Amino acid sequence: MASTMKAMRLHELGGSFQLEEVPVPQPGPNDALVRLKATGVGLTLVIMRSTPGLVDEYPRILGHEIAGEVVETGSHVTNVGVGDHVTCHFYLTCHNCRYCRSGRETLCEYFRGYFGLVLDGGYAEYTTVPAVNLCKIPDGVSSLDACVAADAICTPYHNCVAEAQIKPGDVVAIVGAGGGVAIHAVQMAQVCGGHVIGIDVSEKKLEMVSQLGAFATLNPAQTDTVEEILSLTDGRGVDAYIDYVASRETLEAGVASIGRGGKLVIVGYRPAAAYDNVSPNFTVDPLQLLTYAQEIHGSRYCSMEELKQSLELIRQGKIKPIVTETYRLEETETAFQALLENRVTGRAAVVFD
Ligand SMILES: [Zn+2]
Repeated sequence: MASTMKAMRLHELGGSFQLEEVPVPQPGPNDALVRLKATGVGLTLVIMRSTPGLVDEYPRILGHEIAGEVVETGSHVTNVGVGDHVTCHFYLTCHNCRYCRSGRETLCEYFRGYFGLVLDGGYAEYTTVPAVNLCKIPDGVSSLDACVAADAICTPYHNCVAEAQIKPGDVVAIVGAGGGVAIHAVQMAQVCGGHVIGIDVSEKKLEMVSQLGAFATLNPAQTDTVEEILSLTDGRGVDAYIDYVASRETLEAGVASIGRGGKLVIVGYRPAAAYDNVSPNFTVDPLQLLTYAQEIHGSRYCSMEELKQSLELIRQGKIKPIVTETYRLEETETAFQALLENRVTGRAAVVFD
């Protein structure tokens, strides 16, 4: 194996990636060395790259939606072996606090940060990963499909199953429906039995949302989404409104769109620093919430179990990963720019030989 590798490294907050030749990392006793096959590119990282306090040290290699092959393991590693195809859980957690022990590890009391932000990630030919974060990819699932499972599919799994608690027959509004994570929520909500209204500002994206089974699509640039939602539900409002944009406008529309016992699930985040200093804070009438027993849920990523089940849904053909653009490692910055300009339908990914 070569002793050096190509990597796209970030040298400062909000900077752009530089292609560099760096040493192949050595796995510690609890790590595995993974040769990358594919790494997803999503808006999460575009935002995180410019958000202070997430990357602890520069230079840093980003990229958390990885799929690759284990080529070496540390001496204490038992859960994966050389030759295994793996993807990775995004959160570095203690595995021991009450939240970790009860399947809610994204609330870990001793959270260490994110893989690919406080540890080097997948925009490189190799990366080392704490073996406890690795998840084997089932046979029949490609590397390209598996890499996006690690966020763009497992996140909607958690949003739809644990937070929105979608049941057969529920009407579910999905906001930002054509984005990399939400486009899989359009599918996941239907796997749960939901009837989907897709909302997005891009007609091109809404076309794909329709193709994926949404019974209605709404463009807030052209229509009053609250009025339309109420009309589509005979005035009742939706059972769940899952917001992947989470601006003040979309959140307030959500509060106005949910029906009796309805749930508003907040997934997206628009930090003012990344969006022209526009605050996403919104107002809620508590009397409305208590009168109609409505719920507002914050939703963070997913558990390892939910990641495994997401891979299983891909294997079963029930969720189709939507990766519309692939890039070479050297083109990672181009991919980020395309996302920043809202030009990507579904997910993009960097692929390796
Ligand atoms: Zn913990």
